[in-house]
Amino acid sequence: MATIVISCAACGGKNRIPDTKQHLHPKCGKCKAPLVVDSFVVPVELFDANMDSFVKSASLPVLVDFFSPTCGPCKTLAPLLRNLAKKFHHKIIIATVDTSTNPGCSAFYKIRGVPTLIFFKNGTVVDQIVGLPEPAMLESKLVYFAKK
Ligand SMILES: [Zn+2]
Repeated sequence: MATIVISCAACGGKNRIPDTKQHLHPKCGKCKAPLVVDSFVVPVELFDANMDSFVKSASLPVLVDFFSPTCGPCKTLAPLLRNLAKKFHHKIIIATVDTSTNPGCSAFYKIRGVPTLIFFKNGTVVDQIVGLPEPAMLESKLVYFAKK
């Protein structure tokens, strides 16, 4: 599981937060002030072991990027997703699944090519994009799902 380090704006203390919990309004371990996570948010790394439960229990829509570390278009998409994770924080959770190490998820969601982006709402697949999307198109879909 990946963690992010967030400095507390109140006391300056460093907090290690699991990436799966960045969206749950974490508080500073030292002074209990709410942590301002916005500029620290990263895409959540999901795995065969936790993807299903994560998308089903998420209080926000989730966009999962099924990628492969050796795929060129996936590498192009990664920085865009990192930006969108920050931009849509509190609206949509951006997550990733490495298909090369998580064959279970990939088989279950019938991933035939990477990148494949799947949109989940209340744990249900509501849309998907196969291949590298135009940044503007991807963002407009996120705006749409954030509102619905
Ligand atoms: Zn603090």
